Amino acid sequence: MVTPAQVVDAYGRRFTYLRVSVTDVCNLRCVYCMPEEGVAWLPKDEILSYEEITTVVEAAAAVGVYKVRLTGGEPLARREIATLAGMIARVPGITDLALTTNGLLLGKYAADLKAAGLKRINISLDTLNPEKFIQIARRGRLEDVLEGIAAAQAAGLAPIKLNMVVLGGLNDDEVESFAAMTLERPLDMRFIEYMPLQEAKDCALGSGSFGFVPNTVTKERLTRRFGTLDPLEVGNSMRGPAEVWRIPGAAGRLGFISAMSAPFCAKCDRLRLTANGELRSCLLDGGGVEVKSLLRGGGSTADLVNAFRQAAALKPELHKVWHEIPASAMSRIGG
Ligand code: SAM
Ligand code: SF4
Repeated sequence: MVTPAQVVDAYGRRFTYLRVSVTDVCNLRCVYCMPEEGVAWLPKDEILSYEEITTVVEAAAAVGVYKVRLTGGEPLARREIATLAGMIARVPGITDLALTTNGLLLGKYAADLKAAGLKRINISLDTLNPEKFIQIARRGRLEDVLEGIAAAQAAGLAPIKLNMVVLGGLNDDEVESFAAMTLERPLDMRFIEYMPLQEAKDCALGSGSFGFVPNTVTKERLTRRFGTLDPLEVGNSMRGPAEVWRIPGAAGRLGFISAMSAPFCAKCDRLRLTANGELRSCLLDGGGVEVKSLLRGGGSTADLVNAFRQAAALKPELHKVWHEIPASAMSRIGG
């Protein structure tokens, strides 16, 4: 049921989910996300403080948001991220707090995050091969991510979702190995289509390009290997952006996020807060509403609520990324 306070746009989409980019900084340089060198981070004084982020989340809760995801950049690269998790977990109305990470620092922070009130975690991992890890992420060690996954499991942050961006000619030969991990373990594996944002295209060109792989191809490949998959959340029963299937008898599940080949804009229930205080209507398109000046200039909760309504109104009916590539960095907006 929609209450009067909730934000519903002209296309009937109700906003219940806020993704918060807590920093644009990252300790990796994935080929599809950032250039290898020379990334100019935002000046520190432009980054929202934990108190400012919490104020925005409180306003979000007032308009019906109950789900928050912390992302980045790399959220664990921001100092004392568990403190922010605790502040958000205490906001009345926020019942689902999640985080997306590259997993490198999870070994250190998983238990603190769980204790602070984090409910769920997504860990991005594009390869199970240590050399390929360096080729794709350009920094860090696969070993540390695997330790991070184990620490998240031990801390009770289950079920864990693993995100893999499928890159033609680079890691698409590993989709079967990733899917096989769900046979015995209750993992949610997510196969994500590469999105050609402007920076991502530049990065890809600078590092030896890779091909776009539609999820139909990945799914066919998995069907050939594991047999017909069982549908769990498909078509009208889809609750999120992923179509979810299961290898018959497997403990875990397989999700396909097909933002490019089958956009899920009609069901999109999310708005985004960037690290430097802009409420974005969409990752790929549309515009945003600047809220940092409201936060720093004595704006009221009513002003923030109004900013949410304005941001929702900017949301495009369908993103146009195939036609007009936006020059917006995934790591700044929060992928
Ligand atoms: N650093 C964290 C991580 O990697 O999980 C959080 C931020 S990252 C921008 C969030 C997600 O966006 C990751 O799963 C990453 O693989 C994905 N991503 C980044 N650039 C992408 C692109 N061009 N196309 C598709 N997914 C992308
Ligand atoms: Fe960093 Fe995540 Fe982008 Fe990789 S995808 S460079 S880990 S922000």
